[in-house]
Amino acid sequence: MPRDRTDRCCWYHCVYTVSFRPYIFQEEPVVNHKGSCLCGKMQYETGELSRDIDHCHCTFCQKAHGAAFGTYATLRDVDSFKWTAGGDDVGRYESSSHSARLFCNSCGSSLVAEIDGGKMLAVTLGTLDDDPVVESSAHIFVRSKASWYEIGENEKTHEEYPPQFTQFAPTD
Ligand SMILES: [Zn+2]
Ligand SMILES: [Zn+2]
Repeated sequence: MPRDRTDRCCWYHCVYTVSFRPYIFQEEPVVNHKGSCLCGKMQYETGELSRDIDHCHCTFCQKAHGAAFGTYATLRDVDSFKWTAGGDDVGRYESSSHSARLFCNSCGSSLVAEIDGGKMLAVTLGTLDDDPVVESSAHIFVRSKASWYEIGENEKTHEEYPPQFTQFAPTD
């Protein structure tokens, strides 16, 4: 009985058996973006990022970023995130029961938000070394917005989480 073409390890009918397949076909994940911290100790790579980004005005993000808000894009596939430098010494702060903030222990850059035990990851857009593709943005947690920052009239806002995050309790 002829073997199915998917049983072969390649299109050239070569002699390797199907047991070699996992090694031969182990593809490197596609890298879409690279990012790093201020001092350069931490470096990461990610696959595709969401094209809808969030500016989070929660009080935790204000403190963590030292700014009016933190800006994030979530990863479409959490497994596509990889530290390429400094990963063994990443700073970690559990800011709520369902989220942790990962930062550089040397320069303090806020790099990644780990949501729901790592089921969701979001990178801070300011640490990207290239440009994300952004189609839309929303300001979230505007109920705790800093009084000294004005959101433009035509911008999308949510009092707390956007609809896709309603399974979580407020973080502040
Ligand atoms: Zn650093
Ligand atoms: Zn926030």
